[in-house]
Amino acid sequence: MKQKILILMSDTGGGHRSAAEAIQAAFAHDFPDRYDVTLKDGIADAAIFPFNHAADWYLPITTYAEGGWGALFKASNHPRIAPSALRLLDLVASRGLDRLIRDAAPDLVVSVHPLLTTIARRVLRAQGSRAPFVVVVTDLFDAHRLWFDPDADLCLVPTDGARDRALKYGMAENKLQVAGLPVHLKFLANIQRKTRTREQLELDPQRATILLVGGGEGMGQLYNIARAIDRAQLPAQLVIIAGRNKALREKLQAAAWHIPVAIQGFITNMPDWMRASDVIVTKAGPGTIMEAIACGLPIILSGFLPGQEEGNVTFVESSGVGVLRRKPEEIARVLSEWLAPGNDALEKMSARARERARPRAALEIAGILNAVLATAPNPKRINE
Ligand code: UDP
Repeated sequence: MKQKILILMSDTGGGHRSAAEAIQAAFAHDFPDRYDVTLKDGIADAAIFPFNHAADWYLPITTYAEGGWGALFKASNHPRIAPSALRLLDLVASRGLDRLIRDAAPDLVVSVHPLLTTIARRVLRAQGSRAPFVVVVTDLFDAHRLWFDPDADLCLVPTDGARDRALKYGMAENKLQVAGLPVHLKFLANIQRKTRTREQLELDPQRATILLVGGGEGMGQLYNIARAIDRAQLPAQLVIIAGRNKALREKLQAAAWHIPVAIQGFITNMPDWMRASDVIVTKAGPGTIMEAIACGLPIILSGFLPGQEEGNVTFVESSGVGVLRRKPEEIARVLSEWLAPGNDALEKMSARARERARPRAALEIAGILNAVLATAPNPKRINE
């Protein structure tokens, strides 16, 4: 009989689901007959009303109250306030998580969300289960304190910087491992010519291609950036991924454009769009950054969420794979420089990106989790 792995995630942004799916795909690839891996949204499916709608608040809060988001991040990260945040989470989500975990009867629980660590682990233990509880951190550097549950069995972090954070927030060294950010296997496979990928996506195969993304929610100033790129009339085509942001998509579709523009909603073939492109303009989401790096795609960061994404900017700039430019006109200016004939900046950044990439992280994580299960005590089957 297959062993059951439950991955707890939530659709606040796109990165947690992407990480969960990357781990699920890695298990299916390396251990097809051994495990049954299920993804559950531990907020939408477990929290009480109105907190179960938190994913719907994420875009408006982070877009229209960015400063407020930063303040919330900072306050809840304070050692004296974090315990109150946990108590609130306990009130809001414990009962639903209890039901969700009981139904799943997991042999291993993996959490890829900072709000689904301590409380979920306590619920699991309260049920008498000895199933290992592992946290896979999906923030590259400035990870929130709530990620780090000292009583989790193992905590996998994406970078040395996140490991330092974890130690500072009380994780024991022997429970920590740097494993990279899980990126989907789709970003590893199928290396074909860029022109061919463009053809498949119905783009002009010969034209330089700029990819504009704002995370899963189509966040940031995507509209203004697209307009500035269009005004500059760059010798390129522009692909805009509006994600789940329907209003943005409609506004983009209603506009008139001077350069070729392809407007997409939430797409499920990001590797293709990245491989078709010469450069990506994105907010500093960890998932998108690591996926772009895996594809050797130079990056212009158009912004970052205060608190959790600041270190990602330092990472991109200090690795020499991209730059931060917050003003739409400046983004257009940098693109114009990089796309000028004879400029080898894009080529150099692309080579550095490939060096920095860790595209096999999801497979490594599946291997680590497989080893955890191999040595784990038999969990008491809670449904029996
Ligand atoms: N994404 C996607 N389709 C879209 C837009 C985004 O699959 O239309 C994925 C993207 O590839 C990445 C994730 O959503 O894996 C966004 O994660 P990130 O950490 O960059 O930002 P978040 O949305 O979590 O703030």
